[in-house]
Amino acid sequence: MPPEPPPAALRLTVDRDALAANWRTLNALSGQAAAGAAVKADAYGLGVGSVVPALWEAGCRDYLVAHWTEAAPVAARVPPGSVSVLHGPLTDRDARYARDLGVKPVINSVSQAQRWIEAGGGLCDLMVDTGINRLGLPLDQLGSEPIAALQVDVLLSHLASADENSGLNALQLQRWNEARGQIAHRRASLANSAGITLGADYHGDLTRPGIALYGGVPCAALDGHIRQVARPEAALIQVRPLQLGDSVGYNATFVADRTMRVGVISIGYADGYLRCWSDNGTMVHEGRELPVLGRVSMDMTVIDLTAAPDLNEGDWVEVAYDLPQAATRSGLSQYELLTGLGRRFVR
Ligand SMILES: *Cc1c(COP(=O)(O)O)cnc(C)c1O
Repeated sequence: MPPEPPPAALRLTVDRDALAANWRTLNALSGQAAAGAAVKADAYGLGVGSVVPALWEAGCRDYLVAHWTEAAPVAARVPPGSVSVLHGPLTDRDARYARDLGVKPVINSVSQAQRWIEAGGGLCDLMVDTGINRLGLPLDQLGSEPIAALQVDVLLSHLASADENSGLNALQLQRWNEARGQIAHRRASLANSAGITLGADYHGDLTRPGIALYGGVPCAALDGHIRQVARPEAALIQVRPLQLGDSVGYNATFVADRTMRVGVISIGYADGYLRCWSDNGTMVHEGRELPVLGRVSMDMTVIDLTAAPDLNEGDWVEVAYDLPQAATRSGLSQYELLTGLGRRFVR
């Protein structure tokens, strides 16, 4: 047996209480509808292993993933019938897999409907395109024979501009309502996180928040309602003094204008802490702010320890990662900030 590796100097703490609170908030804001959860991309990078059980306990009963490879880890933690696979059955093998695992395929086209029925069919979801022109059945194909033969649980569509005051929202709402009148289904769903705030007309029977569960604030109406969930932390792997004129990191973009103490932490762009944080990011220790100095490198970032002279090698600092603020600061989207966090984090 190889020896057990020691714990990594990089971890991502998921605040499950905040996650559950965010789900309850979004469920309440969904009115008569129940809130499900988008848990694709390993629950937006946070890890389905901790996220899915916490959401189940909070009361969430519907889960959405994108890829077929993402279905089993979720279906191992909740009843498989509560898992939907958004990309749909592209191959016969996908369709057989859905039946074997017991998860629902989201049917996005007539050919996917045919494939599902040929594989034996059963309860599925149906995505209709109402204007985003990404995945989904065009409305004029709703009457086709394979579609009419489906046993549809959730009839869903996806909003393109829910986070904006856009005329597209009302148009998509109208088309979704037309689709609801044309095809038999058990439940209807339109809203993502931002869509929930557009009002009761957009709620149907099921809402599908993703980013807001994980601490994202995609629109002003959710300001003040959502708690931070993901907290990246890294350990100091070296502490060193700088003299006036010393530079830090690749290309010497930071030059000390005084004697100062700096720390090297074990996080870099390979971990999703991208170069846009160079001379820009902040670490936090007990409320004290420790700015990033110089370029972020692949595995390391240097920070100013002036505000925390007590910190030493082996101590941990938290990456300032309030999503709305971090997005403004970095130019990355709140979605990218989460899903980009790398594999070296212990989750
Ligand atoms: C990702 C996704 C969601 C969740 O969207 P957020 O903006 O993260 O709330 C909902 N529905 C579908 C179809 C999705 O692909």
